[in-house]
Amino acid sequence: MNVIDRIVQFRAEIQAIRRDIHAHPELRYEEHRTGDLVAGKLAEWGIDVHRGLGGTGVVGTIRHGKSKKSIGLRADMDALPMQETNEFAHRSRHDHKMHACGHDGHVAMLLAAAKYLAQTKPFDGTVHLIFQPAEEGGAGAQKMIDDGLFDRFPCDAVFGMHNWPSLNVGQFGLTAGPMMASGNQFEITVTGKGSHAAMPHLGTDPVFVAVQVVQGLQGIITRAKKPIDAAVLSVTIIKAGDATNVVPDFAVIAGTVRTFDDRVTDLIEERMRRIAQLTAEAHGASAGVKFERTYPPTVNHARETEFAASVMDDIVGPANVMRGIEPTLGSEDFSFMLRARPGCYVFIGNGDGSHRAAGHGLGPCMLHNSSFDFNDELIPIGATYWVRLVEKFLAR
Ligand SMILES: [Zn+2]
Ligand SMILES: [Zn+2]
Repeated sequence: MNVIDRIVQFRAEIQAIRRDIHAHPELRYEEHRTGDLVAGKLAEWGIDVHRGLGGTGVVGTIRHGKSKKSIGLRADMDALPMQETNEFAHRSRHDHKMHACGHDGHVAMLLAAAKYLAQTKPFDGTVHLIFQPAEEGGAGAQKMIDDGLFDRFPCDAVFGMHNWPSLNVGQFGLTAGPMMASGNQFEITVTGKGSHAAMPHLGTDPVFVAVQVVQGLQGIITRAKKPIDAAVLSVTIIKAGDATNVVPDFAVIAGTVRTFDDRVTDLIEERMRRIAQLTAEAHGASAGVKFERTYPPTVNHARETEFAASVMDDIVGPANVMRGIEPTLGSEDFSFMLRARPGCYVFIGNGDGSHRAAGHGLGPCMLHNSSFDFNDELIPIGATYWVRLVEKFLAR
């Protein structure tokens, strides 16, 4: 593996920062301590620091030479509202807050790259180091864009990276086109008319209607969309009634829809409204549908994907670059940045979990698991990827 020696030399320093962030997780839009730490390190290394985008976001800018070309590298900073079960020294100090998605490591890899780039400036152009808040459901990327991210810090292309437990350390994965799905949630309220359960003909039973709506929704997936278009619709909540002898007034159905294409989302939303409303109407009830599009699909641009893959080839060899990796139905708010600018989002292998220090909890090492820990071996690999990407994109 061709990692940069100088980054390997300051791995211990960056690893200490990573573990400090892990021990002090902050939830979306509360990344004050993490933002202070990031801004402090960037300033210490002589990098221009801009704060306040998206609330707690931080942008570090390094300029060198005369070229007008520019590149954006992005790391997310937030933790999850869950209890850590690890007991090693750098476990979370806060109940119900945990870096279970490895964003502590994403910050660390970008800091390691920042330090190297600031010291050596091996490029001609401008590098924007984007540390964003609130990836976990808060759309922090969009908030930074709304606050003028790409107007104030123009980027010809933007790149993102997530650690990925099912790839080995020393492997990367990426694909052109959809890489992660859109995240959408819906809530359908069926309103009927309550009555005595022994006299249902005097009311309108919303439970009976809701059950038919749920059945009808799966028909959208199997009958309405093109079979070749991937999509999942999961009803995860059905709520109605409090007593066995009372027909309730209303029933609530809720769940999630994931797709790789906005047109498929449009179709599912439109059919969902019709099925809910017309099924309810058929039985004398009514239905209200709330459909919320949380994140769009993460769609990589072809040219930037090939570019990123060529950089990876030089670091880990083509055999360790999983081109055309199967997309996942998880979602990611880097999707907003890829709508605003060309770019590519990639996975970096985090290994099988055997790296975790003594005292780790049980279970596998998947993201969002209570015994997850970012693998510090990735710091030099991920930072080398960032640096080589910059060197090649802003070649002198
Ligand atoms: Zn996550
Ligand atoms: Zn994540």
